[in-house]
Amino acid sequence: MLKIFNSLTNKKEEIKPIEEGLIKMYTCGPTVYYYQHIGNMRAYIFMDSLRRVIKYNGYKIKGVMNVTDVGHLTSDEDSGEDKMELASKRENKSPQEIANFYAGIFFSDLKKLNIDIPENITYATHFIPQMIEFVKGLEEKGYTYKIDDGIYFDVQKFPEYGQLSNKDLSKTGNARIEENKNKHHPFDFALWKFVEPNHIMKWDSPWGVGCPGWHIECSAMGRTLLGDRFDIHTGGIDHKTIHHEDEIAQNDALAGHRVVNTWVHNEFLLVDGGKMSKSLGNIYTLEDLEKRGYSAMDFKYFCLNTHYGKKLNFTFDGLTASKNGYKNLKTLVNEHKFGTAKIDKDTISLYKKKFLDAINDDLNIPLAIGQIFTILKTSEKSKDIYDLVLDFDRALGLELDACENHTSLEIPAEISTLAQQRWEAKKNKDYQKSDELRAVILQKGYVVKDNKDGYTIEKLEQ
Ligand code: AMP
Ligand code: ZN
Repeated sequence: MLKIFNSLTNKKEEIKPIEEGLIKMYTCGPTVYYYQHIGNMRAYIFMDSLRRVIKYNGYKIKGVMNVTDVGHLTSDEDSGEDKMELASKRENKSPQEIANFYAGIFFSDLKKLNIDIPENITYATHFIPQMIEFVKGLEEKGYTYKIDDGIYFDVQKFPEYGQLSNKDLSKTGNARIEENKNKHHPFDFALWKFVEPNHIMKWDSPWGVGCPGWHIECSAMGRTLLGDRFDIHTGGIDHKTIHHEDEIAQNDALAGHRVVNTWVHNEFLLVDGGKMSKSLGNIYTLEDLEKRGYSAMDFKYFCLNTHYGKKLNFTFDGLTASKNGYKNLKTLVNEHKFGTAKIDKDTISLYKKKFLDAINDDLNIPLAIGQIFTILKTSEKSKDIYDLVLDFDRALGLELDACENHTSLEIPAEISTLAQQRWEAKKNKDYQKSDELRAVILQKGYVVKDNKDGYTIEKLEQ
C-alpha cells in the first residue's frame, strides 16, 4: 500500500489510481531560459523517486513534464519581464535557440542523474491552440474578464480558491503589490497577456495578439495528455501558493469537478543555510559540482539521504560525506557479487517487506538506504544479497551495479536533445522524423538504443 503526503488534504494517503493499474502524473518542468541549478535538480530527483516507487509497486505510469519554452514573466504575479526574451537579448539568439540550448543541458543533466524521464515531454509552444481552447472554455463558463493588458481569471467566481495553501479570498493583506490595479481581485491572474508589437514570441488569439499566462500552460498540457481526472501532480514547494492554486482554479472551474487527486511538493534545497542567490554567488549547477570533483550521482545520493519533504541544506562538506558514503555503498554491493553463501527465502522476504514498507511510507528513502547498509554489512557475502539490493535499486536509481570507480559517459547536450526529439517523434509515430534524427545522431558519433523503459545513448567505437 503506497502512501504519499497529499498537500491538498495535509495527510498521508493511500494512492488509489483512477484507472486500474495506471498512475497518471504531471510534473512541473523547467523554464529553459537559463541553466537549471542543483535546487531544481532536487525537484526532478524527487520526481524520479516517486516514479520509481510507483513502478516498483507494479503500477504502470503515464507521466507528463512540460518544458516552458515560451516566455512567462519574471514573477508569479504576471508582472516583470519575459524571461525568454530577456535571455534572447542577453545572448543574442532567438528564443527557440535559447530554449533548445538550455533544454539540451537539462536533459543531459537528467541522464547523468539516472532520472527516469516521463513518458511525455511537452513543449509549451507546441500547445498554444490547446491553451487558447482552455481559456475559451473558461470564458464560456463566465470565469474570465478582459482588462487593458490581458484576459484574467476571476477568482471570486471560484470560491474554493486557495484550498492548497489555505488562502482566504477576503484576506489579501499579504498579497503582493500588483502592477495592474485594474484587476478585480489581487489574486486574479492572467490567462492570456497582450504583448507589445516588438515582443518576439506572440500568437494570434480570439482576444488579440499575445502569449499565454504561465499557469495555463501546465493546465492545458495536463488536460490534453492526462484528461480531466488524473492521479498526481508534483512540483517544488515554491509553486504551492500561487502556480498550483491557479492551476487548480482553472482546471476545476473548466471541468466542473476536482481534476487532480494528489498534490505532492518537494521541499527546498538550501545552500549554506539560505536561499541560493546571485549576489552570494552560490547558485551551483551540476557542472559546477563536476568541476570540483563530484559526480551527478554523488549529488543524487546526497539528496536521497534526506526525505523529500524536509529542507535540505547543501554544503560541500555534506557533499563530500555523501560521496564517501555512496562509494562505500557500491563497494559493499560489489563485495556480494561473487559471494557464495546462501540466504534463506524467509530472510529475503523479510528484507523485502521492510524495504517496501519504508519506500511506501511517503517515500522514506533515507530509511531504506539505512536498511540496505545493514543488510550488506550483516549478511555473509552472497549473490542472493547482491541480487536483492539490485532489485531494490529499481526504486532508488542509484546505479548500484556500476563498479565503484565507474564514471558515466558524458553525452554532449546537443546529442541528448536530438535523442529526446527522436524519442518524441517515435512516440508520435512520426517514424520518418525519428529515423532522420537517428541518422543525424549516428553521423555525430553516437547511437541511440531503445529498450522497454526508454532509450540509452552510446558513443560509437572509433
Ligand atoms: P522553475 O524552473 O523555477 O519553475 O523550477 C523548476 C522546479 O524546481 C520547480 O518544481 C521548482 O519548484 C523547483 N525548485 C526551484 N528551486 C528549488 C530549490 N531551491 N529546491 C528545490 N526545488 C526547487
Ligand atoms: Zn506547472
